[in-house]
Amino acid sequence: MMIEVRGLTKRYGRVVAVDDLSFAVRPGEVTGFLGPNGAGKSTTLRMILGLDAASSGTATVGGRPYSAQPAPLRAVGALLDAGAVLPGRTARHHLLALAACNGIPGGRVAEVLAEVGLESVARRRAGTFSLGMRQRLGIAAALLGDPPVLVFDEPLNGLDPEGIVWIRGLMRRMAAEGRAVLMSSHLMSEMELTADHLIVIGRGRLIADTAMAAFIDAHSTREVLVRGPRPESLRRMLAPAAEVRADGADGLVVTGLDAAGIGALAAAGGVELHELTPRQPSLERAFMDLTRDAREYHTEKETGS
Ligand code: ADP
Repeated sequence: MMIEVRGLTKRYGRVVAVDDLSFAVRPGEVTGFLGPNGAGKSTTLRMILGLDAASSGTATVGGRPYSAQPAPLRAVGALLDAGAVLPGRTARHHLLALAACNGIPGGRVAEVLAEVGLESVARRRAGTFSLGMRQRLGIAAALLGDPPVLVFDEPLNGLDPEGIVWIRGLMRRMAAEGRAVLMSSHLMSEMELTADHLIVIGRGRLIADTAMAAFIDAHSTREVLVRGPRPESLRRMLAPAAEVRADGADGLVVTGLDAAGIGALAAAGGVELHELTPRQPSLERAFMDLTRDAREYHTEKETGS
């Protein structure tokens, strides 16, 4: 089963939150959903989950809109807002009630509690839970119907480093089992480790829909860190061929020449080098480069009004 979004648009008065968006989330992969703040991610996820009506276009799971799913929890598991639990209910009762409403056998509750590591606190009231524990409870609820499609909005919020590693493993496992997993997060380094594919939006529009590795490759600026005892001589030598900025007292960050090119120029000019390190491209750098326009536009719009 997959998620398909076609021409999806959402207007709030004059604000176009989501603008003619089309993409698919395929089974067997973790798809990362990225965009600057206000890009329209939450609005898109809410429309996929039937919590918000589209102004136009469609969002379907396995070919049907969420509202037309005969058993929604068995089709799509979602984590949107970890706070959405009645505080007086125990974790176990919260899940039992959800199971009962959705025709899911009660025995499944113990399984998902074990899956998320909440067995020992199953009889505690959810109101006493830390944000990380509520997050795990929300994930248990998402897994309850054993759905082929999972949607997680910022699942790492409130988790400690151990919890973050756990989520990464869980997402990878869910995708390896053949499920379609869609996840948003602003933690780029974690997204880079977790997602196979990326959907990037800005100002409600699709900016990229591509494999993780290809995205990083296509959008990161290649930089090389150069250090030596005479940075000013180096800078003069490199400046005609590359963009150069200072990095500390004896370092330069060079764009527009690779390490071999810089080394050759330095050798030809007789300038000593102490370090010549290509900077590893990363999702974070690629994302910042690609969305700069969207973010600048946003800042202008906000300060201009
Ligand atoms: P993201 O999740 O990417 O941060 P959102 O989907 O929350 O972005 O918001 C996208 C745009 O829609 C923003 O400009 C936001 O202010 C606007 N928006 C979101 N929800 C509403 C709403 N209920 N009423 C009016 N505007 C909204």
